[in-house]
Amino acid sequence: MKTVPFTRSVLLYSGLQKEEYESVETLIMERNIRLVSKISVGIAALGLFFVVLNLILGIENLFPYSILIIGGSILFFMKEAVHEPTGRSAYFYCYALIVIVLLYGIALSMQPSNADSPSTSIIVFLTIMPLTVNDRPYRMGILMFFFTVLYVVLSFLFKSASAFRTDIINAFTFSVLGFILYVSLTNRSVKEIFFGRQAAENERIKEEARIAEESNRAKSNFLANMSHEIRTPMNAIVGLDEMILREAKDDKIARYATDIKSAGKTLLSIINDILDLSKIESGKMELVNVDYDLAQVLNDIDNMTSPKAGDKKLSFVLNAEETMPSAYHGDEIRIRQIMLNLINNAIKYTEKGGVTVSVSYDRPFDMMKITVSDTGMGIRREDMSRLFSSFQRLDETRNRNIEGTGLGLNITKRLVELMNGTINVESEYGRGSTFTVKITQETVDDSPLGDYRERVSRSAGHEEEFIPTLFAPEAKIMVVDDNDMNLDVFCDLLRDTRIKITTAMSGPECIEKLMKDRFDAVLLDQMMPGMSGTETLNKIKEKELAGSVPFIVLTADAVSGARQMYIDEGFDDYISKPVIYEELESVLLKYIDERLLVSREEADRIRERENEEKPVILVVSEDPESLKKAREVIGDKYRGAFVKSEEQAQKYLESHKVEFVLRDAD
Ligand code: ADP
Repeated sequence: MKTVPFTRSVLLYSGLQKEEYESVETLIMERNIRLVSKISVGIAALGLFFVVLNLILGIENLFPYSILIIGGSILFFMKEAVHEPTGRSAYFYCYALIVIVLLYGIALSMQPSNADSPSTSIIVFLTIMPLTVNDRPYRMGILMFFFTVLYVVLSFLFKSASAFRTDIINAFTFSVLGFILYVSLTNRSVKEIFFGRQAAENERIKEEARIAEESNRAKSNFLANMSHEIRTPMNAIVGLDEMILREAKDDKIARYATDIKSAGKTLLSIINDILDLSKIESGKMELVNVDYDLAQVLNDIDNMTSPKAGDKKLSFVLNAEETMPSAYHGDEIRIRQIMLNLINNAIKYTEKGGVTVSVSYDRPFDMMKITVSDTGMGIRREDMSRLFSSFQRLDETRNRNIEGTGLGLNITKRLVELMNGTINVESEYGRGSTFTVKITQETVDDSPLGDYRERVSRSAGHEEEFIPTLFAPEAKIMVVDDNDMNLDVFCDLLRDTRIKITTAMSGPECIEKLMKDRFDAVLLDQMMPGMSGTETLNKIKEKELAGSVPFIVLTADAVSGARQMYIDEGFDDYISKPVIYEELESVLLKYIDERLLVSREEADRIRERENEEKPVILVVSEDPESLKKAREVIGDKYRGAFVKSEEQAQKYLESHKVEFVLRDAD
């Protein structure tokens, strides 16, 4: 709710936009209803007073006062019938007061004692006053016109000819004045003349705010679209780089590929931040609450952050209260994101000393508390107010060499707020900072956490060497993507698994191939020209072409909620682009029939056997450099046999079949 001041004059002359007006409308109407209810008591009392006075004075025509008494009383008791402050009944309620007062005025001027006198004041009231006391000049204008006509007709019927003449001249004159007033209330430039520059100025400010809001929305949309578009080519970059890493025999190339991998990760995290921010700004960020194990979360975070602290020679401690409950219900992914943002910042902005993270739980309030303290550069007092703003980086001269976009803390704060939590920071410039997050988290397992590291059996190192565990030569899957580079990436990534891969480049091609063959899973790209992934899936389900084959959507839509959306649309699972091999493997492992999977030992045996069946190239050289080069040249299609001397070569040739022999050039 916007906090726009809503005194009547501000509303009348401020030039509020319709939406803004509506956003304060509830407040205004609640106030109006209260006001009308009070005034109704007042007019009923006034009516009663006049009745008593007239009775004392011996005047008998009490009709006008009875309108006040009856109308006021009805209004007072009708307040309960108003249900919604901005509903129809509320408006009728407020208009009713004006109608009662007008009827009273008309009835008063129609009294026989007034038959000879024109009622100028009543006409002024009818034609002009209501326009100035109500913020809806258009409706009021219509109401006033109706009552003015009614008055003129009654004046014609009940008043003397001379009084009627004056009345009709007055009615005409003041209606014209009323009309001018109406125009001035609704027209900006006239308003400026009548009500001064302030009104026009306010209006200009409102207009600017509206344009700014619109361009902000356009910016969010643009950022969301752009991040989406970047993800698609990233698929090829990350995927092909993974292939280089697996196949590179040259250390230098492997190093380059590792650098690309880490730059890719950074780029991806920036894209994700931008997507998150645009989601949050457009109010589309949703929390996905699940049951989760705290130990796993802490262990993963420890594994992800402590090496970074180690690289900078900082001490790093992540402690959790051993007595705190071990499992909770909440948005695990976002909690990880909050912790990672704060810890990564602490490490980034600390050169000496260390970072301490502590996690605890306050049972009576179901409150999880996460504190991240560092002994780093700290934050200046005057910068504190900008700390959580988007795209704001502080102390730019000092932080020039530190990577960052200024989005992390803004997102963190907004996520914490989405969870109805709080985030606070205490900092001393040059000495360090402490960020404290408090969020309510329900527990699902109250047993004490204990030592989280012990609890998690997984090994500590996260950058383990790549060992495929998925090996299924009998399994068949289909990958559908309109981009052939992405198809290549898929086939390459899965080559070691020996899964038989059929590719298709469009929805119709997928359907055609599905009718001819059976698959263990279909990976379906969402964004394809002609027929999207969802449309293809719908058609397949409609025609019952695939039985129980699982469909996995491939999409650059990586925002929260996207997964559920695709599952609701009928997909069995979801993989976001760029496809990371580990993720792909774990999804496929879920869907490929266990009977088709081969154990790691068996897989190694098969690989060895295949290797043995490859034609052999015999390399004869003493120079380790040449041997290394020869290894690169041989590649995957051949098997190399390496010997150091001609003698050994001869011996080898006697008992083996060799395709080629490579020798050092003299
Ligand atoms: P960035 O991507 O620049 O790190 P953040 O939104 O995470 O963006 O942080 C905004 C700014 O707040 C940073 O540029 C940095 O100046 C300051 N800041 C954040 N965390 C810390 C910290 N632990 N110590 C000192 N300064 C910090």
